[in-house]
Amino acid sequence: MKVLVAVKRVLDYNVKVRVKPDGTGVDLANSKMSMNPFDEIAVEEAVRLKEKKLAGEAVAVSIGPAKAQETIRAAMALGIDRGVLVQTDEAVEPLAVARILKAVVEEEKPGLVLLGKQAIDDDCGQTGQMLAALLGWPQGAFASRIEVEGEDFLVTREIDGGLETVRLKGPAVVTADLRLNEPRYASLPGIMKAKSKPLAVKSPADYGVDVAPRLKVLKVSEPPARQAGVKVKNVDELVARLKSLGATP
Ligand code: AMP
Repeated sequence: MKVLVAVKRVLDYNVKVRVKPDGTGVDLANSKMSMNPFDEIAVEEAVRLKEKKLAGEAVAVSIGPAKAQETIRAAMALGIDRGVLVQTDEAVEPLAVARILKAVVEEEKPGLVLLGKQAIDDDCGQTGQMLAALLGWPQGAFASRIEVEGEDFLVTREIDGGLETVRLKGPAVVTADLRLNEPRYASLPGIMKAKSKPLAVKSPADYGVDVAPRLKVLKVSEPPARQAGVKVKNVDELVARLKSLGATP
């Protein structure tokens, strides 16, 4: 079985987000960029499936600027065999990403497509679901466990109030939640090996997909600054203050 993993290059989760002064978006100039954390979990799962001999080849796909090659190489350093970069400088929305991924799936014919449950830059949480719908494949979103049973996947999903296990008839689309696994760090030999792994560069036009945005961002603004707190001397004062705010202690 071949596994396809979608990896997105995003602003590193440790970086403080700076909104552009004109409110048109987030300033990415000179900021550290990394693989979307949920995609690292998807990559780790693909590598574990390979190690358990449940998957043969694992291929990473990214849609983004030339620098997204670094994200694919990072996935290769963790054990992914091959990469496809669909290069574009446009900010690509989930529907266009899903359409490109569908075309890549038709070319690569994987038994499983793994994505992150959500990209931490746009917080859309839509791409995996859209891809499954476009392909007409079963989906297991927010997976915290994946088991392979012949051609089926048993996917445990984190839902409100508990865990739900669904059986998906492969091929299927699964999106990774936080507790699916703990991604490993890249080893030095892994990083060296990644440099010579095959990476194909394509364009959205090669797949016949128009990536022009359909949504218009009206305004991006910073969250309101938090008001300074007050130190209280003792519990009595805390209770009195809470009461004055209308809270029930
Ligand atoms: P989103 O729907 O934007 O929150 O993204 C959900 C998941 O779709 C991400 O965790 C990635 O696995 C995948 N994805 C979204 N955008 C891209 C992209 N430009 N390139 C590769 N994968 C992507």
